[in-house]
Parts: sequence; structure tokens; C-alpha cells
Amino acid sequence: MASTDPDCLFCRIVAGEIPADVVARTDTAVAFRDVSPQAPTHALVVPLSHHADVASLADAEPATVADLVRVARDVARTDGLDEYRLVFNTGADAGQTVFHTHLHVLGGRTMTWPPG
Ligand code: C5P
Repeated sequence: MASTDPDCLFCRIVAGEIPADVVARTDTAVAFRDVSPQAPTHALVVPLSHHADVASLADAEPATVADLVRVARDVARTDGLDEYRLVFNTGADAGQTVFHTHLHVLGGRTMTWPPG
């Protein structure tokens, strides 16, 4: 049984308690469209289990980190993308606002570097 936090927004999306535009679901992850897209494709891939950030997830469930990347690739492919950006914001100063691990999948436009 995956660990969950009843007060966590993404746990509630995983549980179907809060609506989201879900595009993929596996045994370990759910992917849904970001409500505030920053690119033509902008999805979030989240583990079913609650871990605050990807480093914590890597300690607890290393295989799930790889699962997130595979799901992200499949979401991009489904949108016709071979080139895309994957981002794990880790910590508030890095831009993380939801403290349930999530992998941003961004694509469909030319990306710039460095990000803001
Ligand atoms: O990396 P960060 O924590 O900032 O990303 C959180 C993302 O979750 C934001 O891109 C925000 O638009 C998205 N979000 C969402 N659905 C919600 C709340 C936030 O897609 N209900």
C-alpha cells in the first residue's frame, strides 16, 4: 500500500478526489496536464506514493524514479514529441510549490536556457 497524505493535493488527485486531466496511469504513477501550462505540452508525472521530493523518492523507491521518466517519455511520445524537457523542482528556492514529487514534462516549443 502506497504511503499517502490526506492533506496533499497530488495525493488527492492520485486518489481521484480532485479532478485532473489524466493522460496516463501505471502501477506506480499518474500523469496529468498541468493546470497552468508553460508550453504546448506540459504534464506532471507523480508517483502514487507520497514523498516530498525526488531525492526522498530515490531513497525510498529508486525504481519508481525510473518509472516516472518512462511515463514522461510516453506522455511526450503520445503528444508527438521526441524532444522535451524534464524537470524536478526540488525545494522552494528551486521553484517547488507542491511537496509531492512530480516530474514536469515540457515540450512543443523551443526551450531556452537557463530557466528563470
Ligand atoms: O514544481 P512545482 O511544485 O512549482 O510545480 C507544481 C505544478 O503543479 C505547477 O506547475 C502548477 O501549475 C501545477 N498544479 C496543477 N494542478 C493543481 C495545482 C498545481 O497542475 N491543482
